[in-house]
Amino acid sequence: TAETGSPYRVVLLGANGVGKTAFASIFAGAADSMDSDECELCGDEMCEKVIEVDGESAAVTLLDTWDTESDDEWAQERCMHTGDAYLLLYSITDRASFLRASELRIILRHFRPAQHTPIILVGNKCDLVRRREVSVSEGRACAAVFDCKFIETSAAMQHNVWEAFHGIVRQLRLRRDSK
Ligand code: GDP
Repeated sequence: TAETGSPYRVVLLGANGVGKTAFASIFAGAADSMDSDECELCGDEMCEKVIEVDGESAAVTLLDTWDTESDDEWAQERCMHTGDAYLLLYSITDRASFLRASELRIILRHFRPAQHTPIILVGNKCDLVRRREVSVSEGRACAAVFDCKFIETSAAMQHNVWEAFHGIVRQLRLRRDSK
């Protein structure tokens, strides 16, 4: 049974180079029920598609819009208002990106003080074991402080990326059902 209503807007956030584009292309390239594996509304920055999670369809718009390194506060603000849920990415090989994720979480909390906005902290590039700078337990502890879920992924190996997308849909449904 398809969910009615507007698509869930899921925003990819994180420092440059953590894998947001790689996540977006995995999402966009997913072979669906359609004859083409291309996404209908795919631009560079946004992709809308219907995915199946736990046997139920969910329309998801994935947004990869914002250069988080820029000082464009207007763009930052727009991004913080636009999402129903956020995948907050860092690279396990880049401690600075992990610290950036914390900053982004704080900014996000500032813009979304009241609502409980679903967020998953995503430690990407877990295939690069020998270059690891952020341990699994640090990631998990950070997520606990942030009161959000945590997952390690590898976009390069396509490991856990769909689990992250599915996880965010599950959280959005929980929130929807509790309303
Ligand atoms: P963005 O700036 O956040 O959009 O990051 P990109 O998606 O452009 O990724 C930056 C670089 O990291 C690219 O060269 C990707 O191929 C690489 N990359 C992304 N995800 C992974 C991953 O999981 N493992 C490895 N080894 N490389 C990755």
